[in-house]
Amino acid sequence: MIDQFGRNVTYLRISVTELCNLRCRYCMPEEGVCKKNHADMLTEDEMILAVEAAAALGITKLRVTGGEPLVKKNILSICRRAAAVPGIREVCLTTNGILLPQLAKPLKEAGVRRLNLSIDTLNPEKYAYITRCGSLDDFWKGFHAALDAGFEKIKLNAVLIGGFNDDEIVPLAELTRQYPVDMRFIEMMPMCDSAEFGADTYIPYTRVLDVLPDARPAPKDGGVAKLYRLPGAKGNIGLISPVSAHFCGECNRIRLTADGRVKPCLHSSAEYPLKGLDFEGMKAQLERAIGGKPQWHGSLDAAHHSGAGRNMNQIGG
Ligand code: SAM
Ligand code: SF4
Repeated sequence: MIDQFGRNVTYLRISVTELCNLRCRYCMPEEGVCKKNHADMLTEDEMILAVEAAAALGITKLRVTGGEPLVKKNILSICRRAAAVPGIREVCLTTNGILLPQLAKPLKEAGVRRLNLSIDTLNPEKYAYITRCGSLDDFWKGFHAALDAGFEKIKLNAVLIGGFNDDEIVPLAELTRQYPVDMRFIEMMPMCDSAEFGADTYIPYTRVLDVLPDARPAPKDGGVAKLYRLPGAKGNIGLISPVSAHFCGECNRIRLTADGRVKPCLHSSAEYPLKGLDFEGMKAQLERAIGGKPQWHGSLDAAHHSGAGRNMNQIGG
């Protein structure tokens, strides 16, 4: 469906849970989330009905996310059923990778074609610090399981955090020479918990290019990342700049939260509930949400925080 600003909305990100087995400092509070009443969350059947309604409006691509989607018990069934919805051409998933040793192959068999894995640092102590409880060793086991499973594409995501990982841009980028993966650097967005980080922690994507003088522009792949490539690399460097150079004009996505709210813009508090609706009701709400998609998200920086009103784990990154 085309929105009022001429953008063809074809991409739905669906958060299957707010829960997570890590506690990244910029994403969620140390104590985790207050577990919501089970009855307020979308059931698996409702998620699939929402995907069917979205597909009827022209959604062709799904990204399954969270929270951590792999802690959801029925994740394989959700992926399998979503991938089978007529009109859905591609199901991708974003994960911290920790549970991939047991789930990579079953996810591939369930119809997930592409994976994004989050990795902000290559230093085990810093990984334990930023995730508050994670082991870098577990990440690498998950990463290798993903490579072995044969997904069409694997992308690694690092959130750029000044004073934390800006000294690791080169070694993170070098992973694209070692492995057939893209390495993407994402500007940190001032959401609820990350909004408390100091102004110096918000560093622009241009910092990546400053330290990678050999990187050359690469053709776009239909996403919002600016793409570059190092000589001899097997994958691209992607730069995602929601803060310093927003890409709202090419935004083709909407989001569905685990508690059943459609968010037409990540940084707007506007939400359209789907919980309890039938196919036609969901389709009508999705239509309203796409129709109400704002032109852009407004200024975002240390002084202008996101209007989302939720942490990333409660929206779906
Ligand atoms: N748990 C999964 C993971 O970590 O990949 C999926 C959900 S997580 C919310 C999705 C992505 O959002 C991660 O790559 C994470 O680094 C990113 N993210 C979380 N909070 C962010 C923020 N404030 N600014 C930019 N990216 C953020
Ligand atoms: Fe969990 Fe992903 Fe958020 Fe980290 S970024 S706390 S892994 S949801």
